[in-house]
Amino acid sequence: MQNKRVLVVGLGKSGIAAARFLLERGAVVTACDAKDFSEQIPGVKIQTGAAQWDGLEQQELIVISPGVPVQTPELERARGLGIPVIGEVELASRYLLGKALAITGSNGKTTTTTLVGKILADAGLTTQVGGNIGTPVMELVATSTPETWNVLEISSFQLETAVEFHPQIAVILNITPDHLDRHGSFEQYVREKEKIFARQDANDFLVLNADDKNTQMAAGKTKSQVFWFSGARPQVKRGAFVHQNVIVFVPQEGAAMEPVLPLVEIPLKGAHNVENVLAAVCAARLAGVSAESIRESVKSFEAVEHRLQFVAAVRGVDYYNDSKATNVDATMKAVASFAGGIHLILGGKDKDSDYTLLADLLRERVKVVYTIGSAAEKIGRELAGVTKIVEAETLANAVRSAAEAAQPGEIVLLAPACASFDQFENYGHRGRVFMECVKGLEVQ
Ligand code: ADP
Repeated sequence: MQNKRVLVVGLGKSGIAAARFLLERGAVVTACDAKDFSEQIPGVKIQTGAAQWDGLEQQELIVISPGVPVQTPELERARGLGIPVIGEVELASRYLLGKALAITGSNGKTTTTTLVGKILADAGLTTQVGGNIGTPVMELVATSTPETWNVLEISSFQLETAVEFHPQIAVILNITPDHLDRHGSFEQYVREKEKIFARQDANDFLVLNADDKNTQMAAGKTKSQVFWFSGARPQVKRGAFVHQNVIVFVPQEGAAMEPVLPLVEIPLKGAHNVENVLAAVCAARLAGVSAESIRESVKSFEAVEHRLQFVAAVRGVDYYNDSKATNVDATMKAVASFAGGIHLILGGKDKDSDYTLLADLLRERVKVVYTIGSAAEKIGRELAGVTKIVEAETLANAVRSAAEAAQPGEIVLLAPACASFDQFENYGHRGRVFMECVKGLEVQ
């Protein structure tokens, strides 16, 4: 990197980390963003707005943040001039010491990454967790050692520019339509996800979901050793599955089943979380953690905030916060996690979603829907006649009305199937407001 002219595109958390990292290695760093950036990074030239792409032709390497589309015309032009364009994860992975255990998928990444990180750390392995989950991979480089397990949550955006990224264990949880606005087509989105194993060889492991046909196809395209997890099949060739209500692991074809933990010990709600635990069990066994140790770690795992997180029981009613359920599929998974008696809070900013998909489950399990936010009218229209609908407008009203209506033994669930940006800063803010409203009920 010494004296190399490098342009960092995007001045978010990972862009800033990349700029600092490159500077420390002697590069001549320019960092740019379409938006204004008021801070200074000593030693880094900052270009924003109209000046963003100034001097592009002189750069020798371009490092982009996950939020920056690779198809940006200026980046296309740079590639045309022979300037390599890579992402922050790709750059970091070239310097990261130790092993990488990388997890991707459309849903469940954060939950599974957090769980695998806990299992490995509990087992005494030197572990650090990062990627899409919060700490940029770039920031893990300095603390990595040859013994470190780097457990990484990797999004499809971060895979777009992967070239040499080479995890020893890769996991694909599921692939369902998402972010098609960015990737152009579902086929392209699948291709991006498959880059997670592009560099793997016969010494590496790839963990795939046997119940998801889009991830199954990856098995025919990899050189690595494929292991499976399944929440639905009676058995997989090698990997993790459920046998007589116990999660078991088969280390090789034909080998005996190793019991890992009974389903009743999983402290998370929902069949989707069983899938996440199965994937984590498989990955952790491949990393060398014993079944006994995995069992203890899973038993003491707590739901990640805003992911079907238990908030409180107030006068016999259980409150759950699944603010991260920002699409219809995640809401269906949340509703399916409870047998019935659900008071469901739906709404927010619509993403062109089809809410009629919820009709059957709602008819079966949901007593009342409380709508909030700008999508309320559309949701009300698409679900008319399915179940009782209360137009609550705000989250505070919704919690109050649900608390009045819910009987002991019933559930109040925030799983809104929408983005939050109409009434909140983000899903985290929405979840915190929900939890505060619930805490308010407790003191009444
Ligand atoms: P990601 O990091 O991929 O967005 P999260 O663990 O943050 O995944 O969960 C996102 C949403 O999807 C939450 O509402 C959660 O309850 C739901 N979810 C979690 N795991 C799964 C899964 N395996 N399949 C479908 N939905 C899931």
